[in-house]
Parts: sequence; structure tokens; C-alpha cells
Amino acid sequence: MAEQQGGAGGTLSSKTLTSYLQETPPAGRISTTNRFAFLDEATKMEIRRKTLKAVAIPGYQVPFGSRELPIARGWGTGGIQLTLALIGPEDIVKVIDQGCDDSVNAVNIRKFIQQVCGVEVTEKTAEATLIQTRHRVPEEPMGKDQILVLQVPIPEPLRDVEPSEQETRRMHGEADYSSIWLRLYEDIVAYNEITIGARYPVLVNRRHIMDPSPIPRWDVPLLHQSETLYLFGAGREKRIYAIPPHTEVHPLEFADHRFRVERFNQGCMLCGATDTYLDEIVEGSTAQRFYTCSDTAHCRARQEQQNKVVAP
Ligand SMILES: [Zn+2]
Repeated sequence: MAEQQGGAGGTLSSKTLTSYLQETPPAGRISTTNRFAFLDEATKMEIRRKTLKAVAIPGYQVPFGSRELPIARGWGTGGIQLTLALIGPEDIVKVIDQGCDDSVNAVNIRKFIQQVCGVEVTEKTAEATLIQTRHRVPEEPMGKDQILVLQVPIPEPLRDVEPSEQETRRMHGEADYSSIWLRLYEDIVAYNEITIGARYPVLVNRRHIMDPSPIPRWDVPLLHQSETLYLFGAGREKRIYAIPPHTEVHPLEFADHRFRVERFNQGCMLCGATDTYLDEIVEGSTAQRFYTCSDTAHCRARQEQQNKVVAP
């Protein structure tokens, strides 16, 4: 029998996933262990069709029939469904969570994908054909043969200014974005700058305002005229949207209050990088602050390169 999902903290349990997958299916039904990529073919077809529509209308949120997975909604099910609908046996998959390959969720989602697809996995950005991520875009530039799938908690960029779904659909339809511009203006009046950190709204293809998911502002310029296809999946909110390669993506800004990325006054304490997005670590006993690269694979590669140079 499948064990109950969840528990304190809500982290994914690989034991739960394993027991679910090993469950004996009722007579006449295909075993999930024999089905490639967990989802049934009709579901994959629907997700692929909706993805194509999303690619055809950059930044537009396409509703889809988000399916149940052996993972609670809110833990990356939108991203996982996109990944499972697109993946093929030859794909090489990388999964990151806040830039890290080793966090609990990244490890368990990677294990799940590996278990239901039998594909190769990697931590190297350049090797991966399909990268699923939460809250970060890899530091290493990605190419045209790669796809980045982002997990999205809140797909609606206008949600903070308009609670009604019906109204936000109308606003997108009519390109009536005055209320979000007003929100940015009020920020400037109150704080003399735009205070939005993650989820910074962007204008895609000069038409739709889009939520780039909670990536830091540091990553927003990477979306503009990228070589790579970016796909966004919101499982709980049942939305798919996309930024195809070579699309114009501009953060909202005023002529006298320009968009700017985060600034760090020091480099990574591990690899010395001053051109990467850094995480702050506060040392418990001394309250001293350190910074390390958020993209752990990129940081490790830099350290290995430095050790090679130092070694005789
Ligand atoms: Zn580093």
C-alpha cells in the first residue's frame, strides 16, 4: 500500500514515492513502473499542446489540466509535469533548487524523474538537455539545444494588485496594465526605489506582462533574447507559459528609475567569484556574514579549475 504523503515540513519522501511506484496495479491497467515518464500519453499530449500554444504566444498563461502526482501541489508539480511531458529516453536531466543540486527537494525530484524515466542525470549545466529549476537560472550560459523548466508558485503577475482572476484575465486581454505601473510608482513615492526583489514583473514580446517566477532580479536580464527555451509550469494554479528563444523580455522600469540587479560588496568565499549571484550565510556564534555562490555546480567547477591551476 502507498504510504501517506507529507509529514512535518512537507519535504518529499523518496520512500513514499518508491512504495507508490511499486504498488501492484489493478488488473487491466498499465503498471506505472512500466510506463515511461509516469504520466499517461493523453496527459503528455495535452501538456505538449498547451506548451506549443504558450510558445506561440510568449508570456501568455495557458490553462492546463494539472494532474495529481505522488508529490503535494506547491512542491514543483507544474515543473515536473512539463519535464515528464517533454522528456525522452536520450535526455540528460539536471534539477536545481535555489541554484543548488543537493537540496532535499532537488535530490528527490531528480530521483523521481530518474526512477520513472531511467534517464541519465547530471549536475553540469553544459551537459544537461533539460534543466528543471526553482528560483534560479543557472549562471553558465545555456544553448539552443537546452530547455529550462521553471517551477512557479504564483503565475499571475497582477495578483498583488488585483485579486479577481476574471479581472486579471480581462486586464491581460486588453493590455490594461495601469494598476501594476501605479504599484511601481507608489513604491518610488514611498521608498524612492522599486522594492520588488524576486518575481520582478517583465514585459514579454512587447505584449504580455509576465511573472518570471521567484528568480532574483539578477537572473531577469538572462531572459532577454536568450538562446534557450524557458518554460514555466504552475501545478497548483494550472498554468503553463513560455519565453521562446530570441524573445524581447524587459523588466518594468521608468526612464528616471531604472531596473537594477542586486549588488554585492564582496565575492564568493569559496571560489572568489564577483560576477555571480551570492547567498548570504550568517555564522551563528559570531554573527559574521559570508557570501557563497547560489549556483553550487558553477562554484564547484570554478574551485576545481583553480585547484588545477595551483597544482604542479
Ligand atoms: Zn563560488
